[in-house]
Amino acid sequence: MYLYNSASRKKELFVPNNPDIVKMYTCGPTVYHFAHIGNLRSYIMEDVLEKYLRYVGYPVKRVMNITDVGHLTSDADEGEDKMLKGARREHKTVMEIAKYYTDAFFDDCRKLNIKRPDVVEPATNCIDEYIKIISKLMDTGYAYFAGGNVYFDTSKLERYYIFNDFNADDLDVGVREGVEEDTNKRNRNDFVLWFTKSKFEDQALKWDSPWGVGYPGWHIECSGISMKHLGEDLDIHCGGIDNAFPHHTNEIAQSESYLGHKWCNWWVHVLHLNTNSGKMSKSSGEFLTVSLLEEKGYDPLSYRFFCLQSHYRKALVFTWENLDNAQGAYRKLIARIAGLNPDSGEEVDQAVFDELTGKFKTAMDNDLNTSLGVTALYDVLKAKTNDATKLALVADLDRVLSLSLIEKADEKRAELKKAEAAKSAGTAAAGFSIVSESGEEDAAVTAKIEARRAAKKAKDFALADQIRDELKAMGVELTDIPNGVTWKRV
Ligand code: AMP
Ligand code: ZN
Repeated sequence: MYLYNSASRKKELFVPNNPDIVKMYTCGPTVYHFAHIGNLRSYIMEDVLEKYLRYVGYPVKRVMNITDVGHLTSDADEGEDKMLKGARREHKTVMEIAKYYTDAFFDDCRKLNIKRPDVVEPATNCIDEYIKIISKLMDTGYAYFAGGNVYFDTSKLERYYIFNDFNADDLDVGVREGVEEDTNKRNRNDFVLWFTKSKFEDQALKWDSPWGVGYPGWHIECSGISMKHLGEDLDIHCGGIDNAFPHHTNEIAQSESYLGHKWCNWWVHVLHLNTNSGKMSKSSGEFLTVSLLEEKGYDPLSYRFFCLQSHYRKALVFTWENLDNAQGAYRKLIARIAGLNPDSGEEVDQAVFDELTGKFKTAMDNDLNTSLGVTALYDVLKAKTNDATKLALVADLDRVLSLSLIEKADEKRAELKKAEAAKSAGTAAAGFSIVSESGEEDAAVTAKIEARRAAKKAKDFALADQIRDELKAMGVELTDIPNGVTWKRV
């Protein structure tokens, strides 16, 4: 498999240090708010990477941190603590906020079929690890104590920038307006490893350390947690592109200075999900969550499908229209799979199976080209082969794509059967049935159909027609069947 490495800035043949276990680390969420669907684009694509590695036969150990301390509103160690900000906003304690949003994050992941990493570690669990690393960095002169905090001294490095070619002049540009410069720093890029003095006297979580009672900086978290669970070397480290600088750059600086050797071989960065007005972020612009998509009647897996249709190294623009298109295509895909007969009793044609999984692998081996991976799925449906082979292929590719294709197609078949049964039951005593053709449930649609039924019963046909029009305006089309209605989105 060829995988783009942000550190070398080229696609490289992926060879793990040890094929018996691929070590993968992912920067996890800062749990001060819901994840937005931009964050989740990164987690979806990282999930695909993990699953594809497993698909081609590598055992993977994947670790993810939960940032529940130390992440300031500016990635450059300035600004307010994000967790404290969240706690204040909601009149809760930092730990309550962390628990609530960690649970919410994994709930979103479940809805998007994102597998939980093998190890999920909150930053507050690993204080001893950070102290061990920082102590050695102090002993070896890579870190210094100033104004109550411990800083990493970037002037000690031969090479600081890894993912970009900034030079000293660019740094001035990096200091944003309104952000106070920390006068304790010897060099502008130096970053905090341990805070004892911060502008926020009410920092809730503090621990004892050789440098005084305080709390860790954000960057040290990922180095400490990775080394605790994956040891001194790492095959792949992932995150969204905004993590490349300064977060990952600082992780490399401190980890390699501590270890005395190269730490991680592959750096994989997912480009951003943008809106028409720019990058999606929690602090500005539209803040779209999985729950909001659901409220608007979208299946979260339509969003996963939307993400898979584009390459992870290209910025992706989110619009409702784009999502509508993805949802429409996803529903059609399910309907086509539902049209295959799971009880045909036919034999799987192994030659066809190998040929078409080969196509899928060719796409995915080229730096995880999920868009062509999805095309390979359509090739399966078009192939001249029996239904058993097609269904076996769909199930196989879905081990990576994770679109619940088989389950959804089963549900759809069951719904259609139910609708058929209702139809043939005629005007018999059967109750009034409301059946969606795609198998989805939508309380708002159901309520309107019930209201229309009541209107018809009361012979208020004008109202019944008006309700049908309202449903039409919502993109819902009804078909009356004996003793019920079937509906679909158009
Ligand atoms: P955070 O919770 O802010 O630490 O971010 C969680 C993950 O989402 C990180 O890997 C970020 O790099 C990533 N991320 C942040 N914004 C976006 C975006 N608009 N599109 C894709 N990924 C993002
Ligand atoms: Zn990280």
